[in-house]
Parts: sequence; structure tokens; C-alpha cells
Amino acid sequence: MRLFSIFGDPVSHSRSPLMHNSVFNSLDIDACYTRTELKDGEKLREVFLQKGLSGANVTVPHKEAAFRACDEVRGIARTIQAVNTLVYQDGKLIGYNTDAEGFMRAIESFGPIRTALIIGAGGTARALSIALRQGDITPTVLNRSANRLDYFKAEGIDTYLWEDFRASSYDLIINTTSAGLTDTELPIPRSLLIELLSQAKGAVDVIYGKETPFLREVKLSALPYKDGSDMLLAQGVLANYLFLNGEYPTEQIEPPMKYSFLL
Ligand code: NDP
Repeated sequence: MRLFSIFGDPVSHSRSPLMHNSVFNSLDIDACYTRTELKDGEKLREVFLQKGLSGANVTVPHKEAAFRACDEVRGIARTIQAVNTLVYQDGKLIGYNTDAEGFMRAIESFGPIRTALIIGAGGTARALSIALRQGDITPTVLNRSANRLDYFKAEGIDTYLWEDFRASSYDLIINTTSAGLTDTELPIPRSLLIELLSQAKGAVDVIYGKETPFLREVKLSALPYKDGSDMLLAQGVLANYLFLNGEYPTEQIEPPMKYSFLL
């Protein structure tokens, strides 16, 4: 039996075991996907090998540690310097980032987008900014504090703090902060958000499974919007495709994974 797991802290809320096991069951694949709560990200490689895993997903706060744990990093993960999918192949740990591509798939339904304002400057903001730029969409990053902006500056991406930002027109407004995840906060001051939404074509909150204050404000603006569910599904489909070494097309993986969202 092939074994897979998700590593994170916390990890109990993760939907990944349900998503991947649903695919394994439906396609009659002899595999099992579990959760691993990991406090120290530097132990990731050791624990992965100890458990004899064939692959894993990595979530908050270990995506940068996962990047460092790999023997080889492929694709966009090399630029983002964060890995959310690990595959054990020929005695090597190979790292990928499927969050970035998952997000790009999720926003296809908005139609043509040229500019995007990313609120937040964490790992997800990094992944999205690089993916957007590769997709010919100009990203701008807005964060409440300065300490995480260096990465974006080094990549030549425009960055702002709340106090030096003046609202202008962006096609897509994206919340990548954890504001609203366990509290009732908006990611930026309400007046600024309302002004931005009045000039936008759509909005996305990467948080899934709940209506955040950001999403509530977006709904009031009557703009097209999405929460993080489509991104979660798309990143999971791509990860499962990599886990199974491309044996099954994504078209076959997606329906059972989507079905797990109803469970
Ligand atoms: P990080 O911890 O790396 O970054 C968090 C960011 O949020 C920082 O920029 C931080 O600002 C900002 N922030 C946190 N709280 C507030 C607040 N109250 N007001 C304003 N800004 C705030 O997190 P990640 O990037 O890894 O994850 C962010 C979110 O994305 C999580 O909620 C996660 O669940 C979700 N996610 C969803 C995915 C999906 O598939 N749908 C995939 C990956 C992530 P500062 O720098 O000032 O501290």
C-alpha cells in the first residue's frame, strides 16, 4: 500500500485526507492518506522517510521548510521558494508547488484579468504573485507590516503598506491574509476595501469553508467572487496527479475529489 500524509501545525482541520482518500477509493488504488502534526519543520524530511511515505502535502507553517528539505525542486516552486507537494521518486524527495497553478485554474472563470491586488505578503501571496505574473497579470502587494515585503521587492513586484497606499483600479482583489479565519477582522480598513471593490471586476478570498468579513463585504458590492474552495480543489487534483506519477488524467481525479467536499 502506498502511504501519503499532510504535514502542518495545526493539521486537524485539513480536508486533504478526505479529498485524496476519496480519489484512491473511487479509482480502486491501494493507498492511504493520513495527517501528521509536525511542530518542527526541520524534522520534515526525517519523519517523511521514517513513515515510508510515497508523497505528502505540506501546509502552514512548513512550506518554506519543505522547500529546504527537497533533493530537487521543480517548476514554479523554485521561484516561490515554498513547496506544498512532495513526491518520493527513485530515492529522492522532489518538491512542487500546486497552490500557484491551482489558483490560476480557479480564477479562469473571471475572464480576462490584467491586474490584481494581493492583500497579504505570506507564503500564499508569494505563490500567487509569481503565478499571476507568469500568467501575464500584473500583481501588486499590499500588507499591514513591512517585514515580509523584501521577497516581492527583490522580484520587482510593486509593494505598499496601508499608510503609503492610495486606492486605484485593480481588476481582481485577492485576500491572502488569515484575517477572518479565526477572528472577525477585515484584512484592510473597510473604507479602503469598499473603494477598491468599486473599481474591480471580481474578488477572491483564499480562505475556504466560511464566510469571512472580507467575503461579506464583497457580496455587498455585488461583484463576482470566489472563496478558496476552487483553489483547494485544483491544488489537490494537481497534487494527486503527481502522487500517482501521471497514471490517471486530472479529468478522472477531479470528480471523486470534488465529491469529497460534500462529505
Ligand atoms: P502566512 O502566515 O504566511 O501569511 C499571513 C499574512 O496575513 C501576512 O501577510 C500577515 O501580515 C497577514 N495577516 C494576518 N492576520 C492579519 C490581519 N488580522 N489583518 C491584516 N493582515 C493580516 O499565511 P499563508 O500565506 O500561508 O496563508 C494565508 C491564508 O491562506 C490562510 O488562511 C490559509 O488557510 C489560506 N490558504 C488557502 C489555500 C487554498 O487552497 N484555498 C492554500 C494555501 C493557503 P503581517 O506580515 O503583517 O503579519
